[in-house]
Amino acid sequence: MKATQIHKFYSVDLAIRASVVITTDLVKEIQQIHQSFPIATIAMGRLATGALLMASGLAEKQQLSIRIQGEGPLGDLSTDASFESEVRVYCGNPQVILDPIDGKLPVGNAVGKGILTITRFHDSYKHPQISLIEIQSGEIAQDLSYYYQQSHQIPTVVALSVSMSKTGEITGAGGVILELMPGAPVSLIETIERKVEIGQPLSELIISGATPLDLIKEYSHTHELRENPHPYQVKYHCPCSPERVERTLKLLGKASVAEMILKGSCCEVKCQFCGRNYSVSLETLRRLYDELISH
Ligand SMILES: [Zn+2]
Repeated sequence: MKATQIHKFYSVDLAIRASVVITTDLVKEIQQIHQSFPIATIAMGRLATGALLMASGLAEKQQLSIRIQGEGPLGDLSTDASFESEVRVYCGNPQVILDPIDGKLPVGNAVGKGILTITRFHDSYKHPQISLIEIQSGEIAQDLSYYYQQSHQIPTVVALSVSMSKTGEITGAGGVILELMPGAPVSLIETIERKVEIGQPLSELIISGATPLDLIKEYSHTHELRENPHPYQVKYHCPCSPERVERTLKLLGKASVAEMILKGSCCEVKCQFCGRNYSVSLETLRRLYDELISH
């Protein structure tokens, strides 16, 4: 994947702050890892892009997860992103096919109605912070701005875009989040929303080679902008490991582990986020069982 990073800006009048990222290469990688069809690729690409931008607004070593449990054919969607711009994503049914409506793939219908959960983690937190909202449109950007509105009372505009050619090749992807700063007139968000509505679509700007600053200028109320460095490369990263697989197996409980042992063969586990395969030997299963019954 080519090097890319999140760019963070604030307006000189201190009315807004914004973050922007171009994720064309990241979404290509997501498509490849999950062997996903267009509608799931778009949903996962938007979700991962949104999560990266939101995580960049946290503090060092903080992470967030977004889980979408919709009733639509895509099944669950889930993503984890860190302040340091590492992200992973998965979709329950990545090979769903739906017909376009008015020339657009109906991502909202594919996600369906349901619940969106955002969880924030930090080593120093005793418990993760969890926010639940009802899925609004399922188009993801709108759902995330609703989250900012509901959970933080921060007027925010989120725009996320993944575009592809007729043959399914990713031609451009990226996202922008513009937030009002405390004390800024609330009406300003309407100005920004209008600019996003009537301005050139994000996907077209990205395909035409717009820089992160160009993207913010297109939607911001002012061109007087300064950049706040965020020096981390965007990376698809899955922290799965044999140890984590063992921990997950133990969470299934001793009855399940005993059942696997009785089958008499090693247990194959595939990571849903990165596709890596883990083979857990009979010997390891016996050890896990012993650990479970000794507690
Ligand atoms: Zn993994």
